[in-house]
Amino acid sequence: MKWSFKIATVAGTEVRIHITFFILLVFVAMQGMAGGHGLNGAVDALLFVSAAFVCVLLHEFGHVFAAAGYGIRTPDITLLPIGGVARLERMPTKPVQELVVAICGPLVNVAIASAIFLFVGIGFVASPEYHFEQSGRFWEKLMAWNIMMVVFNMIPAFPMDGGRVLRAFLAMLMDYGRATRLAATVGQGIALVTALWMLMSGNVSPVLLLIAFFIFMAAGQEAASVTQREATNGLRVRDAMLTDFRVLPPDATLRDAVDLLLSGSQHDFPMMNEGGDLLGMLTRQRLISGLSEYGPGHSAHAVIEPCEVSVTALTGLSEAMEQLGASMCPALPVIDGVTGRLVGLLTAENVGELMMIKAALKRA
Ligand SMILES: [Zn+2]
Repeated sequence: MKWSFKIATVAGTEVRIHITFFILLVFVAMQGMAGGHGLNGAVDALLFVSAAFVCVLLHEFGHVFAAAGYGIRTPDITLLPIGGVARLERMPTKPVQELVVAICGPLVNVAIASAIFLFVGIGFVASPEYHFEQSGRFWEKLMAWNIMMVVFNMIPAFPMDGGRVLRAFLAMLMDYGRATRLAATVGQGIALVTALWMLMSGNVSPVLLLIAFFIFMAAGQEAASVTQREATNGLRVRDAMLTDFRVLPPDATLRDAVDLLLSGSQHDFPMMNEGGDLLGMLTRQRLISGLSEYGPGHSAHAVIEPCEVSVTALTGLSEAMEQLGASMCPALPVIDGVTGRLVGLLTAENVGELMMIKAALKRA
């Protein structure tokens, strides 16, 4: 995540705060100030929002620790004004495991709300008067916030936890792909009905409308990515890689690369040294920006993308596609596992073509 910085590391997971989060704090403080209680109002507002986001963070750690139980690491959690995002290395594909990981977030909020209910209820902890929005008692408000988090997160729509819970339940009854598509359709239906209901009742909340739109898109994306994973199931990089490609020598100029670019349909050119080792990739984007910055006589080597990630011809296609998506390079070098020589290039375009061919053959 860009524009975020680390505030702590807990059990191997970085906790990061997005810069826009501070805009929320300023906004909340100003709102508290305007509430008629002056500086006290601002302090109370900040205290409450901070406490609320500690609960968000604990919710995310509920997912993180549940995932850790299945050996899945979480490199980081980012706090955004709209909530927290825990970036799990991967989601478990076993339904029971996904169910546990998804439900452990909301369970944390259930635990917090119950604890507040108990402690404040029996008078163990005093709930101070506080002034923010409508004045009320601090702990009661925080309890309500946690209950709201449970309700909101359990809406059965991706990317909410409830969507994952629904998918996990469905995946116990049918295959994973069908379960995902069905869960995504349910989520999109909920988003659509909410939006329509708002528009028809004339009671339009821009924030809710935005959330509905976001859910609609996210659900579609989830279904598409699972469908893609299904389609590439059992396929390897060698099934889709480009094997007929041009290579740049280390002393090539940008002019040489332009000649190659214009004479064929290849966009990105691997550069190799005399020993046959890959030095990096001259992508079309780098070539164009290099041309405008330095002119055609410049060394191509100076502007290549290092492309540290490479795959072998036997790497699973879906795994390779994930690496391609995370990489800065639009084409992944495919290396022979034994000799270490470059044997192919993997591009999204080629994989797309393979998918089209597969789909056409299925229909035939
Ligand atoms: Zn969650």
